[in-house]
Parts: sequence; C-alpha cells; structure tokens
Amino acid sequence: MGQVANHIAAVEEKIAAACQRSGRKREDVLLLAVSKTKPVSMIQEAVACGLRDLGENKVQEIMDKYEPMGEGIHWHLIGHLQTNKVKYIIDKVCMIHSVESEKLAAEIEKRAAACDRIMDVLVEINIAGEESKFGIRPENTEEFLRSISKYSHLHVRGLMTVAPFVENPEENRGYFRQMKDLLVDMNAKKIDNIHMDTLSMGMTGDYEVAIEEGATIVRVGTGIFGERDYGKKNG
Ligand SMILES: *Cc1c(COP(=O)(O)O)cnc(C)c1O
Repeated sequence: MGQVANHIAAVEEKIAAACQRSGRKREDVLLLAVSKTKPVSMIQEAVACGLRDLGENKVQEIMDKYEPMGEGIHWHLIGHLQTNKVKYIIDKVCMIHSVESEKLAAEIEKRAAACDRIMDVLVEINIAGEESKFGIRPENTEEFLRSISKYSHLHVRGLMTVAPFVENPEENRGYFRQMKDLLVDMNAKKIDNIHMDTLSMGMTGDYEVAIEEGATIVRVGTGIFGERDYGKKNG
C-alpha cells in the first residue's frame, strides 16, 4: 500500500472507533478528504481507496483539478468564498460549506437559479469568536438563517465550523457540543425552508472528538495527504 492508502486505513480505523464509542453508525459520518495544495496524482490514490468526496478551500484549485480528476468526484468548497467567484464553481461543487454573508447567499441563489440547480450549503459558524476567522457568531445564527431562508435555490443542510487550533483535541469538545446544540435549537425554530441534518466539523487534530459530539462530515487533510508545503503556494 502507498502512503495515502496507509493513512486512509488509519483514519478509517479511528473513525470507526469514534463511532463505536458514541453509538453512531459509520455510514452517518462522511470522510471528506481535504486535498488543497496536493497534486492530482496523490488525490487519485485517495480516490482509488474509495474516497469520492474532496474538499478544497480555493476556487482556483477546484478549477485546476476538476477536469484532470474526471467524473464521479463530489467536490466541496470549504474555504472562504468571494462573491465574484461563485460563478466559477456553481456547476462543479456539490456543497458550499462556508456561507457566512447575505451577499454571498444572494449570489449563490442567483447563479444556482441561472443553471437551474439547487445548491446544498452550510452556514459557517465562528464558534469560538476568533477574530481571525470567518463565520456567523452563534448568537446571530437565527437571524442569519431567517435572512437566507427566502432563497429557493439554496438548500441549507446544516452548520460548519473551523474550531480553534489546539494541542489537545479535548479542548474543542465544548465547541463541538455547542455546534450540535445550535443545530438542534435552530431546527426547533421551524424556520421556513430550513431543515438541517449536517454538521461539518473536526479536522486532522480533532475529528474523533468531533464525531463523538455529532459531526456528520469530518474534513481531514494532513491526516490523509501529509503536511502541506506552503513554500510556494498559499492557501
Ligand atoms: C485545510 C482545511 C481542513 C483540513 O485541515 P487538516 O488539519 O489538514 O486536516 C479542514 N477544513 C478547512 C476549512 C480547511 O481549510
């Protein structure tokens, strides 16, 4: 087995164990392989292992890899999305994880309507209130959801967060729990057009804890593809 295959096997084992510990079913958690900065050849190894869902945080990288990776890939846009770039990915991705402004939601609505599709989206939450991060503050979530519920070409599937970078993943357990509580609370508001079932949270350092707290998508990059080299690329 190659490096990537070995890494995936190890991640799968940890996911299975976390599911077992928390009484969840493996099929209720999607392993999203975060392939940013990684070459197509390496990503193909992950696809050969059965992974179909790939996450990128830059529009340009999806554009570059879309054709070479071919059909059958489910691309997810997980990073900050500028309004003027929505048009490039609207027909390429299956889900946008990073909706956090009315303006962006309006643009996705417009572009999705133009190509006659309904886009699955997640609302990004800045759960720890970090200055450096994008996202809606938890206390503003209801207002935000109400403001975008009118868009008929958006299907708001749930919430996403990028938790703080921590040494010990236990430090993020409380944040993951707050995300789950927020999802449950928001569903209870019975806002028109908003029925959420997806929680995208947990990365290489903390995905097991995230699963124990209810994550339905974990976004794992380093744990699958190894460290990223930002020497010549940014992102
Ligand atoms: C890079 C990235 C990840 C994956 O991070 P790792 O720590 O390498 O697993 C997950 N989510 C987002 C939004 C990212 O930008």
